[in-house]
Formats: sequence, C-alpha cells, structure tokens
Amino acid sequence: MFSNAEIGIDLGTANILIYSKTKGVVLNEPSVVAINVNTKEVVAVGAEAKEMIGKTPQNIIPIRPLRDGVIADYDVTAQMLKVLLKKVSKTIGASMRKPTVVVCTPSGSTAVERRAIHNAVTSFGAKTVHLIEEPVAAAIGADLPVDEPLASVIVDIGGGTSEVGIISFGGVVSSNSVRVGGDKLDEEIIHHIRKTYNILIGERTAENIKMEIGYAHPNHKEETMAIRGRDMVTGLPKTIDITSTEIHEAIKEPLLKILDAVKATLETCPPELSGDIVDHGIVLTGGGSLLQGMQEWLASELSVPVHMSTNPQEAVAIGTGRSLKIITKLQKAAK
Ligand code: ADP
Ligand code: MG
Repeated sequence: MFSNAEIGIDLGTANILIYSKTKGVVLNEPSVVAINVNTKEVVAVGAEAKEMIGKTPQNIIPIRPLRDGVIADYDVTAQMLKVLLKKVSKTIGASMRKPTVVVCTPSGSTAVERRAIHNAVTSFGAKTVHLIEEPVAAAIGADLPVDEPLASVIVDIGGGTSEVGIISFGGVVSSNSVRVGGDKLDEEIIHHIRKTYNILIGERTAENIKMEIGYAHPNHKEETMAIRGRDMVTGLPKTIDITSTEIHEAIKEPLLKILDAVKATLETCPPELSGDIVDHGIVLTGGGSLLQGMQEWLASELSVPVHMSTNPQEAVAIGTGRSLKIITKLQKAAK
C-alpha cells in the first residue's frame, strides 16, 4: 500500500520550491512562465522561462505571476504549478496521487489571495491542502524551537516581499510583511545606471551586479565591476566600470525599508519575550538575506545578535513540508 505523499510548496515570488517528506527538496525553479501571447500557450516554465527574460521575440512574454508576493495572475500561477507538480511527480513516484499538500503563503496576503492559492493546488488533485504562514514555515525550516514558550524571530527576505515574524508556542505573536525584497534592489540598480550613465541594463544584469558588488553595509572594501548595457544616446552597446559604493547608495532606500519593518515588529514584541530576543537574536532566511554584509549590518542597526539560517534559500520549503507533523502535535497539545 502506498502512503499518501506529503508535499510542501514554497510559492515564492522569485522561486518555487517543492519538498517531499521522503525525498527532501525535489524542485527549485524560478517562478517565471513564458507565454505565447497569440496562442496563450505556456511555452516554458521555471529556469527555462527565466533564461528568456529580456531576450524573447515579441509574441513570447515571460511573466512572473507572483511578482509582488501575491498571485497577480491566477490562471498563469495555476498553470505554472501544474507543470511543476507534474515534473516532480516523476521524482516522487506513484504516491504523488492525491497528495496532502501544505503551501506557504505570505503573511500579508488577503483571504481572497489565500483562496486563490488553495484553489490552484486543489485543481491539481490534492487530497487536502493546508496553508501555513511564511514566518512559521521559515522558523520550522531553520530548526528554531517553535513549539516552546520561547520567542523566535525570523526575518525572511524574498524577491518581492520581506516577512518578519515573532513566533512562540507554534504561533505568530507578531508579524509584519513589506512589499520590498531583493527585486526592489535590482530595480534601483537599473534606475541608477540609467540616470547616471544613460545606459539601459536588463533585470538579469542588475541581479548579477547586486550579487557581485552589492553590500548592505556602507563600510566595505570598495570593488569595481565592468558592466555592459545599451547607450541610450547612441543606441549602441557600451561597457562601463561601476563601483560597490555607488551601488550601495542606489540600494540603500529599500534596505532601510526592510530594516524599518524589522524594527517595527520588535517594538510590538510582548515584554515577556523581549529577553529571549536579546539572548537568542534573529534568524535570517530567504535569498535576499544573502546580500553581502546583510547579517552584520542588521546586527549593528538592531543591537541584537543576527544569525544566518543554515539553508536560507530552502528553509521555508523544508519548514512547510515538515509543518504537518508539528501542526498535528500542537493541535494535540492544545486539547
Ligand atoms: P522568494 O521567496 O520571494 O521566491 P527567494 O527567497 O528565493 O525569494 O529570494 C530571491 C531573492 O534573493 C532575489 O531577489 C534574488 O536576487 C536574491 N538573491 C539570491 N541570491 C542572492 C545573493 N547571493 N546576494 C543577494 N541577493 C540574492
Ligand atoms: Mg520565500
């Protein structure tokens, strides 16, 4: 007899991850879909579709349906999920039929948005679909003691959103979600290069610049990087050198918005739990937390210890998948 599969889905704005109880993380792909606008057909999904950004002919457009942390395009999200679930069903095997699925939703999402996510997964044939809030999933995935009366603070910096959550006894004591994440930094870099040099660069180039010479902290050893883009005056390709100092200036504002969200959440923390935060600090998850100097910068601004989760990009997916067991345990304890 097959036992039903238990699957966790991290429906991120930048990346979708699927975790199976038996096989671990079985899929990690960008949340991008390429659509043929004439036929409305899905041309490519995931990594293949991301490769196409900025390079496609006019009739094919790559869409990021979850861009700002919510399902902006329900049909496209559902199609993307179907293709990706089908892809992993081969890896997971026959038990993929009628799986129990836990999906992680951003804590700022509305009831309507949650419903949309629920429906998209149900339409794939899931037996039961549970939704879990992102900070709880991230905390479970980061191995924090969520079911103890101890405050755990999670800061998850994703592509479109950053989520801050204080968790104790398996529940969210206080949380905050801002629609600012790693993607905003890329946008600011594009804007800076256009304004300063009259040069147009694409999203992929901007993301590379951020990863190579982007720093959260103003005090760092300056680096330079040669980048290529299109000169807006001549229309021709051009190479210029840019520095990490100017990139820091360009991305400073969204970084401060993320910092403010963390501060605001800590301020609402019940006093009985404040001591835990001073002792144990904050744990970072999400791809955006990999920005160079992020951990040190947040620690110095917040005056509490800041730790990196062991697997920042997979923590939410792992926690989502593992949450079933913990949710059941907590429900029993509450009785
Ligand atoms: P989501 O959960 O919203 O899908 P992720 O947690 O996958 O998002 O994080 C995606 C974001 O992390 C993107 O903005 C990406 O550019 C950024 N990112 C990934 N790696 C790095 C890195 N090494 N340095 C800075 N930013 C990074
Ligand atoms: Mg995420």
